[in-house]
Amino acid sequence: MITSFHPPQRTLMGPGPSDVHPRVLSAMARPTIGHLDPAFIGMMDEIKQLLQYALRTENPLTMPVSAPGSAGMEACFVNLVEPGDKVIVCQNGVFGGRMKENVERFGGEALMVQDAWGTPVSVDKVRELMQQHDDIKALAFVHAETSTGVCSDAQALCRLARDYGCLTIVDAVTSLAGVELEVDQWGIDALYSGTQKCLSAPPGISPVTFSEAALEKVSKRESRIPSWFLDKKLVMGYWGGGQKRAYHHTAPVNALYGLHESLVMLQEEGIENAWQRHAMHHEALKAGLETLGLKFTVAADARLPQLNSVQVPEGVDEAKVRSLLLQNYSLEIGAGLGDLAGKVWRIGLMGSSCTRRHVMLCIDALENTLGEMGVELPSGAAAAAAATYAAQEQ
Ligand SMILES: *Cc1c(COP(=O)(O)O)cnc(C)c1O
Repeated sequence: MITSFHPPQRTLMGPGPSDVHPRVLSAMARPTIGHLDPAFIGMMDEIKQLLQYALRTENPLTMPVSAPGSAGMEACFVNLVEPGDKVIVCQNGVFGGRMKENVERFGGEALMVQDAWGTPVSVDKVRELMQQHDDIKALAFVHAETSTGVCSDAQALCRLARDYGCLTIVDAVTSLAGVELEVDQWGIDALYSGTQKCLSAPPGISPVTFSEAALEKVSKRESRIPSWFLDKKLVMGYWGGGQKRAYHHTAPVNALYGLHESLVMLQEEGIENAWQRHAMHHEALKAGLETLGLKFTVAADARLPQLNSVQVPEGVDEAKVRSLLLQNYSLEIGAGLGDLAGKVWRIGLMGSSCTRRHVMLCIDALENTLGEMGVELPSGAAAAAAATYAAQEQ
């Protein structure tokens, strides 16, 4: 007979999901109530407010899509791209490629700006393309490329889009709560994120926000939005303000309790403090990894603190290392994706997985594992990380 499933206790330091805090897990175990219960509607309003806080926006259309980050992405593109629309899509990793796919599937024309994996989106290349075309409808880019660990200059890209009168569609799945992200100040028009990265909430929900300009584009569409579930005008009948909520779909009630709790925790910490925490633990992890002789994929000025991509040393079986880490330390780190498959490890320091305990465990486990596999290593990695902490405390 099949019995209950009890997952192993892991420490999650990959590209997401990250460790979910016990407070969030226990919130999810509270009683399920109706998705139109007045108490639930009150909590939905709080989630919207808390998301506005986390995203630094006053956009009324700020809400979680009841599906993973990939669905948040589709929600942005399916509402904003009409057949024939020209959209500049920046690609410097896996996720930009998915944006292209979205634009094309909804009948748009994707004008690609390609940059090498591990480097940020080139603002100059985007500007050149904008100068060549006077009918660009939107600029789409990934703020934090989880496949490589690179952060692009979202502020500069949004300013450029403003100057040329086009909308911006931003993937902030990994950036939200890990690095500075300013929806209103930077003038982002449509943004999607995820819950399982730096928010450390359960996977399967995608916060999105639309500016007034984005909503105007939606209302002026000539063609019907080709998705029923993701049609923002319909979803807002349920997520919009006021008491008269209409049934649209059954919200993932308990998962939303979890998101609510994780956002409450973020508010308690303060969003700026969360950015600061990610930067601080990244410095310690970096000191330890570099002492082990591991080299970062991304140049120092474009590195994401929450996603550390390091080169696998010559001759080392990278999959074996990950499997030993899982077996012996119950520690998960990420493999390379796409062009970087087999070449890098991706070490996440996201949300609840961004603590001193995580950093020290990871360095210790990597040092021992590589040592046992016969890789010659300089000593002192843990001491280097600890010294970074000591220096930061002064
Ligand atoms: C994880 C991720 C996604 C996809 O999110 P899912 O929840 O897995 O659908 C999209 N973009 C980026 C940058 C990501 O890191």
